[in-house]
Amino acid sequence: GMFQSTTEPLFAAYCAGDVFEISDALKSDKFTMVQCAPAVRVSIGEDFGMKAGSLTPGKMAAALRRLGFDKVYDTNFAADLTIMEEGNELLSRVKNNGTLPMFTSCCPAWVRYMELNYPDLLPHLSSCKSPQQMSGALFKTYGADINGKQRAEIYSVAVMPCTCKKFESARPEMSMEGHRDVDAVLTTRELAYMIREAGIDFESLPDEDFDKPLGTYSGAGNIFGVTGGVMEAALRTAYELVSGEPVPETDLIFVRGEEGFRIASMTMGEQTFKIAVVAGLTNVAPLLEKVRVGNADVDFVEVMCCPSGCISGGGQPKVLLPIERDEVYRCRKESMYSHDKNSKIRKSHENPDVQKAYADFLGEPLGHTSHKLLHTVFGKQDA
Ligand code: SF4
Repeated sequence: GMFQSTTEPLFAAYCAGDVFEISDALKSDKFTMVQCAPAVRVSIGEDFGMKAGSLTPGKMAAALRRLGFDKVYDTNFAADLTIMEEGNELLSRVKNNGTLPMFTSCCPAWVRYMELNYPDLLPHLSSCKSPQQMSGALFKTYGADINGKQRAEIYSVAVMPCTCKKFESARPEMSMEGHRDVDAVLTTRELAYMIREAGIDFESLPDEDFDKPLGTYSGAGNIFGVTGGVMEAALRTAYELVSGEPVPETDLIFVRGEEGFRIASMTMGEQTFKIAVVAGLTNVAPLLEKVRVGNADVDFVEVMCCPSGCISGGGQPKVLLPIERDEVYRCRKESMYSHDKNSKIRKSHENPDVQKAYADFLGEPLGHTSHKLLHTVFGKQDA
């Protein structure tokens, strides 16, 4: 396509102080670690005149290294970790007669909506932190150990498609002993701005790899950026956990789609799970009303606030002509699924560095360390 999107002129005049704070940290003697959300790699090229949905994880990693980050890690690693934790949480709720349906907790705008409007239903939210916060918590513990650093020496940055992620990173419970999991968040457009300001020619950058181990990811981790993606990633792993066999078909087409409310079911061994995928808060209210009166016939629900999921987030490159919007989202989405399709590893539990993180540091999903670093209690904040 010939679609163009661009960072607004005069951006510097009103861009968040985060850009300046991060620039200062990069010049300081802090050890800087950065992570990027899945949706950023299918859109940032648009801000440099590349076609809509251009897939540029390698150039993005290269650009972050040129900007001076000491370690270029990836949110997708923690997306895989989220599947391990959340998948096991779901199965444990099913087994132990826990609160069902369980709702995903990776979209901070959705979590806030629940806290403000449905506080009585908070036990339905997964206790998992979002991948952004799981990454940050690992940077300052496991990541610090690996790099021979102290927690206080590390400055942790996240690049996100979303302005709500700034709010999430500042929540008081998203820190350990006074150290925030994530010190600062950049939107996709703010990162594009920094790359341009540094005089880096994005399009001609070579493709570089993310740093290991916290930058290794599966195709399942990558599709978190599109509506239905968290559900698809979870089902690929849950199927194997429940039935003991690999899922017969990796592409779970029945959870994909454009509609803001989709329901489906999947049989695994002896069990059948009913699931729902919701995009947009107007589409979730009727379901929440049913949950309230106890007749929502569903086990697991994914909720994202943005119409196509994070690829259409508020921090993404602007689509200048509204008439082109759907087509741009379609291109970004296609790019996400093809990145998954072309990945050697397509299931979260097969990510070798996730397996190693459990073996060397975390123990087991829902274990003591996971509980401390990767889970939280929502609803503790003042409304
Ligand atoms: Fe942010 Fe939208 Fe993604 Fe929610 S769906 S995390 S609001 S970009």
